[in-house]
Order: sequence, then C-alpha cells, then structure tokens
Amino acid sequence: MGNGEFYMDCGSYDVSLTVPEGWLIGATGELQNPEEVLSEQSRARLNMATNSHDVVHVVMENDREPGTSTLDSPNDLLTWRFMAVEVREFAFGTSDKYLWDATTAEVADKNNDQSNDLSMIHAFYRPEEERWAPSAEFAQFSIEFLSNMFMPYPYPHMTMVEGVMGGGMEFPMITHIGGARTDRSLFGVTFHEIGHMYFPMIIGQDEKTFTWMDEGLTSFNTAEASAEFWNQDSWDPRKQGYYSIAGTGDEVEPMRRGDLYPLGTAARGLASYNKPAIALHALRSIVWSGAIHGGILGICPALVI
Ligand SMILES: [Zn+2]
Repeated sequence: MGNGEFYMDCGSYDVSLTVPEGWLIGATGELQNPEEVLSEQSRARLNMATNSHDVVHVVMENDREPGTSTLDSPNDLLTWRFMAVEVREFAFGTSDKYLWDATTAEVADKNNDQSNDLSMIHAFYRPEEERWAPSAEFAQFSIEFLSNMFMPYPYPHMTMVEGVMGGGMEFPMITHIGGARTDRSLFGVTFHEIGHMYFPMIIGQDEKTFTWMDEGLTSFNTAEASAEFWNQDSWDPRKQGYYSIAGTGDEVEPMRRGDLYPLGTAARGLASYNKPAIALHALRSIVWSGAIHGGILGICPALVI
C-alpha cells in the first residue's frame, strides 16, 4: 500500500532460499541448517557470540569466500532454511559482500523463569560502509532499552542488514537500512526500525488505516532512546521541525489512511511521525503534573485531619 506499508495476520513461515555459495543471508526466523551452509569457522564464531555481550566478527573482510564464510558446494549453490512462528511477514537480505557481526542483548525474563534471557543480534553490511561498524551495538542497546521500557523482546534474534533502499524498512526480526549515514542517523534509524518490532509487529495495529499508531509511537520511543544514548535533549529539534511547518497549509489530520496523504509534501511525515510523538510528549507532561497535583491534593486532607 505504498506509504501505508502493510498489515497482515500472523502466520508461520518455513522458507528455503537457494543462493550462490559465499553469499550470506539474514532473515526473519531461525536458521535451521547452519551445518549445511556455514563453514566450521563461521559456526564456531557464531557459537561464541551466543554467550557474548561483546561483538564477535563472524565473517570478516578476508573471509568472504566460499569455503571460508560458507561451505563449498559441488553445484556452487547452497540452500538456507529459515523457520518463524506466528509473525506478520517474512523478509531477508543476501549478498556476497556482507561482513557479519553478532552479539546478544539481555531481554530480562522472557520465559518467566527468573533468569535473564538473551536474544541474538546480527548485523550484515559491506566493509566500505564504515559507519556501520557500531550497528550491532546500536541494535543491542535498542533491544535492551525497549525490553526494559515495554516487555522482554520475544523473538530469537534481531538482524540489521544494509539494504538497497534509502531509508529503513521494518519486518519481523529484521530491518533493511540504506543510504549514507552519520553515527547519529544510523543510531536513529536503527532504533526506529527496531521500535517497530513492538509497534506494530507485536502489538498488531493496522498501519494502513492509522499510520500514526506505528510511526508516532515509534517516533516518541526513538526520541526517548536518543536522549538516553546521546545524553542530550532530543525533543527540541522535533518540536522545531513541527513549528517550521505548522500553519503553512501543508498539515493534514493524523487520522487518515496511510495511502491517502498528499504526495511530495511534508504532510505524511508531520501527521504520522513528529506531531503524534510531540502530542504524546505533551500529554505525558500533563499526566505527570496532574499526578503531582493530585498527590498534593491527596496529602492535604490527611494533614487537615
Ligand atoms: Zn517507521
């Protein structure tokens, strides 16, 4: 649905992808047959990453060869099999140019057994995109921040892949991010796309009908996370961005179908991202001041008595 992206029921996916040997794949779901596609070296490093909070370089620049990153295959092809249970969509990224970084994120007690659980973090990107070096660390921070803010991240992994599109696009357990980036813009888009694992991937709202529910909530969460990660106010630039367009006639209402925004204007970005995020920020201030005010009112009668 273009700008409205997608809305689907959950399903379980069993997907086999046949690619040339030496090509790596990041995808929704868990890899079922690592011993049939990955070299012993890659499997050993991946195994090391499953218990590490530091980033492990599973495939480095000089490893990107059949027989070193992946297995050698008699017919030059390898079939990677992924399975995902109860997710809204399946997506993947593949290249023979990717590096592969892996680590884990602590996601509190997702199995409710009094233990801190881990989810894997993967990052696939080309070495010439040097700004991507902290990608796995950004994803790790994002998953841990969101797990504390809402609920433990429930999926077995979160995977970042350098994609061909200019912005970022979220799918369950995987996000595609493209374009030349600074540290801050890579952090921002990484957190934003991972934020979508909660809204809409887990919560399940319909972005086609109400884009602001996905993008506004996620923009709010991204502003909160950016403030903590970079230790500086991240709300003022958003407010200034809104003020620069407010009243120019480019605004439309946020309660509008995702595919019915005027094209070539700032209308969608404003109505679905910054405006609802700023409105939630303002609403929170009112709730907080109301809570303080209510607390004072609550104490006063007790003092009088
Ligand atoms: Zn988004």
